[in-house]
Amino acid sequence: MSDLYQTQEWKSIPVRERYCLLPTMEDVRPGALVKVENPQIKALEYCLQEKGMKSYREKDRLWFVSKNENLLEDIAKKSMSHSKTKSSYPISEEEKEYHTSIGKFFGYPKCCVKTFVKSLDNKLLPLREWRKKAGMVLLKGDYNNLFDYTLHVPCGLECKGTTKIAEEIKKCLENYDKKAAEHLRKFNRDSIERAAKKCITT
Ligand SMILES: [Zn+2]
Repeated sequence: MSDLYQTQEWKSIPVRERYCLLPTMEDVRPGALVKVENPQIKALEYCLQEKGMKSYREKDRLWFVSKNENLLEDIAKKSMSHSKTKSSYPISEEEKEYHTSIGKFFGYPKCCVKTFVKSLDNKLLPLREWRKKAGMVLLKGDYNNLFDYTLHVPCGLECKGTTKIAEEIKKCLENYDKKAAEHLRKFNRDSIERAAKKCITT
């Protein structure tokens, strides 16, 4: 059991960043993106160092972090060239490649990355589509609670890759930082409940 998650440094990092970061620190997923500003930067640097993590900073506030330097180098290159391109429809091959690299960096299931890119191509908003679908299932009472612990947009309610990674994230967060686990659960559930309410009223 690591004591790092009991320290003042760890606790000073905003909780929404902790639930992104912790599964990468504990090898549940390969990379994470965190947003911190002064005065939390020193605390983040300390925590990253304690866990042997490397980082690539973009625009000062955004930190790509990983233990895998090759992965970090790849995402740094892609991210730099991506920030220079504008989105257009249908989306370009570069844009597709960028989302695929992002998916690899965060350890998203391949099926979910493919579906995400495809819906962008169809001019859909993947996250909104997902919440609508999940909201309907929640209303029917068939919702799998593990979806409350995802850090990506699942390709569908049958996605085994999603429930597998969500279960690992849940276990990891509950084990090391219960507050972060509860925060992630509530954030996802609230957004799905809001989508469900919209389905009833419209
Ligand atoms: Zn999937």
